[in-house]
Amino acid sequence: MVHKVCVVGAGIIGLSTAYIIQDKIPDVEVTIIADRFSPDTTGDGTGGLWMPYLAGNTPMELIQKWGKDTWDYLIKILRSPEADAAGVSIHSGHIIYEKKPEQDPFWKDMVFHFKHCTQHELDALFPGYPCGVHVTMMFCLCLRYLPWLMERYKAIGGKTMKQTLSSLSEISDLYDVIVACPGVRARHLLDDKEVYPIRGQIVTMTNPGSLIKYTDTEKAEGSSDTYLLPSCSAEYIHCGGTAQVNDWNEESDPEDAKRIIERCTKLVPSLKSAEVVGTWAGLRPGRSSVRLEKEDKMIAGKMKKVVYNYGHGGSGITLHWGCALDATELVRQSITELQPLQSPSKL
Ligand SMILES: Cc1cc2nc3c(=O)[nH]c(=O)nc-3n(C[C@H](O)[C@H](O)[C@H](O)COP(=O)(O)OP(=O)(O)OC[C@H]3O[C@@H](n4cnc5c(N)ncnc54)[C@H](O)[C@@H]3O)c2cc1C
Repeated sequence: MVHKVCVVGAGIIGLSTAYIIQDKIPDVEVTIIADRFSPDTTGDGTGGLWMPYLAGNTPMELIQKWGKDTWDYLIKILRSPEADAAGVSIHSGHIIYEKKPEQDPFWKDMVFHFKHCTQHELDALFPGYPCGVHVTMMFCLCLRYLPWLMERYKAIGGKTMKQTLSSLSEISDLYDVIVACPGVRARHLLDDKEVYPIRGQIVTMTNPGSLIKYTDTEKAEGSSDTYLLPSCSAEYIHCGGTAQVNDWNEESDPEDAKRIIERCTKLVPSLKSAEVVGTWAGLRPGRSSVRLEKEDKMIAGKMKKVVYNYGHGGSGITLHWGCALDATELVRQSITELQPLQSPSKL
């Protein structure tokens, strides 16, 4: 028997989840329903840095697990002939701090080449800053990655449908399992009041030279991080940023853009000669913690199997593959529960 699974959402979370379900679970037919596809999803405008950031109070062990699964998967792509097509690359650069952090980030052993800056390095490159690290990090540029993954998803039989949903009841009769990956719009679609937007704005500029990556403040919601991230080809850089809580504005704000350029130029003076290529704003799906669980939910008078995978804040790219693997496991369990008399299960 073929089981019908609907994944709501075509962002990096929905698409990766749909792909793994279609790939790993036998006898399923997966359909993605969404009203935005790449290049119009949240990940598409970002620099795609692998680094846990603004993920609420999601337990550290889960972030480590999902982050490592994603890192390991991206490394496999990086080591394959597909790396360029998939937009996966590694770059080295600096993370510098205005105030010395009390401890190293927990992900320091997960990335490559985490090394504290020497005083000589700081004096030469970032005069006045008290400390920093030099790291080699992974990047997954969604503008390339999402179309690449979508092609693979379709090649194994995955389907898509463009539709705006106002409630899951509109589709619940048509599918055995619904997987909800609606990003920040879970607040409205699922009436989840724990979800809120953390608006981010980016200015894309021509790369003035050897520039790699810098960050200069503590990363807290509402604070404005300063960062310069290379694009895949390093031809452009993504300059940021903002972290504006409860701001639903998806339009670029000229004042934000001006402040971002000012802060980045202060950090990297050679940026003065760079040209602005574009600006973009998106909404990080903020939540008290990532929601990754399954539920038997009464929808339109019938009990339905629903799996949730959303609320990844500023870490959706960093955690996506690990979360998609776990969500797939929950879908597998849900399907098994649908067929209690079939034994042994094919699943
Ligand atoms: C400026 C900025 C920089 C960032 N940088 C990074 C970074 O460097 N590294 C990192 O890890 N993360 C980063 N993030 C965070 C990351 O982009 C997000 O966590 C991630 O993209 C969220 O993906 P998602 O699939 O959950 O949501 P989305 O991409 O928003 O996708 C939601 C999907 O659900 C669909 N949908 C929702 N509601 C409905 C409905 N009612 N009907 C039909 N369809 C619906 C939409 O059409 C869409 O397809 C950044 C975010 C921003 C804003």
